Amino acid sequence: MSKLEVANKVLASFSYAQFEIRKNGAYVYWQGHDGERVTKRWQCRGQDFYPVWHHSYPGGGTSSTALSQLIRWVQGKPVLPISTWRYWASNTCKLVPPKFVDELLAGGYPEHVDCVLCHKQIEGSLDWWSCNGVTGPCCGWTSGCRQKENKDANSN
Ligand SMILES: [Zn+2]
Repeated sequence: MSKLEVANKVLASFSYAQFEIRKNGAYVYWQGHDGERVTKRWQCRGQDFYPVWHHSYPGGGTSSTALSQLIRWVQGKPVLPISTWRYWASNTCKLVPPKFVDELLAGGYPEHVDCVLCHKQIEGSLDWWSCNGVTGPCCGWTSGCRQKENKDANSN
């Protein structure tokens, strides 16, 4: 299975939507209330987790965030690690059945990810960076490259 096939299989476990990649980006589609196929170009403003048309997306915020990670993964962009999916599969979230998280992993979804700022593997807490065109996971405030920044801020 290709990454796209794996991603859409996982997506189908928690959303009515599917997506495809075209030359100019990702397109998400689903069947609307009137039975017509709704197709929308994946485009985010500010946040990377919600499309500009998130009010018409047939799912909630977590579903949209999860979809954003699937699209980014297929496009080869930095994503949240599999531990985030394990959280989404946990009893706290119950967004996605656990077996689909295993399918993602088997399909090559990263278990560990590098920080988009220091490019080292993120250990411990993580955050999401989105600034000046750089988007992806980054070290959290309590560990890694931003820890020093945090200490400096405290010493002022
Ligand atoms: Zn870092």
